[in-house]
Amino acid sequence: MDFEKRICEYCHAHVRLLTGRKKCICSYCGRVSYPAPKNFFNMRESDAVDYCNSIIKEDSERGFRLLESYAKAKNTIDAWYHIYYIARKQNVKYAVRSLENILLISHDTSNKYVRTAFLRLYEAYYFEKFGCKKNAGKAFAYLLPLAQSKYATDEQLYNIGYMYYHGEGTESNTDQALYYMRAAAAKGHSGAKRFIEEYELKRQAYLHSLSAAYIPTHTSTYTYSDEYNPPDTTEYTGYTGDFKKKNEELDDLSGSFYGTKT
Ligand SMILES: [Zn+2]
Repeated sequence: MDFEKRICEYCHAHVRLLTGRKKCICSYCGRVSYPAPKNFFNMRESDAVDYCNSIIKEDSERGFRLLESYAKAKNTIDAWYHIYYIARKQNVKYAVRSLENILLISHDTSNKYVRTAFLRLYEAYYFEKFGCKKNAGKAFAYLLPLAQSKYATDEQLYNIGYMYYHGEGTESNTDQALYYMRAAAAKGHSGAKRFIEEYELKRQAYLHSLSAAYIPTHTSTYTYSDEYNPPDTTEYTGYTGDFKKKNEELDDLSGSFYGTKT
């Protein structure tokens, strides 16, 4: 009987395969394997992808498993990105894993594939794409490096500002929220502009309530209509957490504004 040497698609061990047969039991890991051609891991990436694509058409899991073993052997950002690109429409489980593997290699946001990995993983965990369950903590962790990079888009800056403001995936932090909202507004993001306008209105309402000599611990409900959104009426409490933290600063502001500061 003639045997040929092939490579187990699971453990990458060399297995002997009876000539003419397609699959065998790996003598190392014991799994039923459709061994890859002997030269598989030395193939050029485009050839390996072509080879796997032909298998994916018959058996998606098997084709992607083989492609993943190729990427594991190469472990380059390009190889993982290639899998992501094919898998995002055909087998999303492999898409997520490939993006995570890119970030195991590098967090350098000057690489566009690294940026894509951060962005798509943020979207996956925030908007429940690629079969992922919502995980605000992961979404925040993937979005933050993008927002901090010089490649940040207005949308990314707005989204991280939103998460900081509402404490999604991180501790609520109004200073950080305003920092990113202002950066987004500077790039022309209309939602961020509106956020800052509303925040200013809220701040002024608070200052006004101080000057009207309400008992400082009293919680009043203040209603205003946003002139930029005429049909909407927004309601909120006058003494929000945002402003409680900054009593001293606001006392100063209200003092100088209303001339009551001595
Ligand atoms: Zn094996």
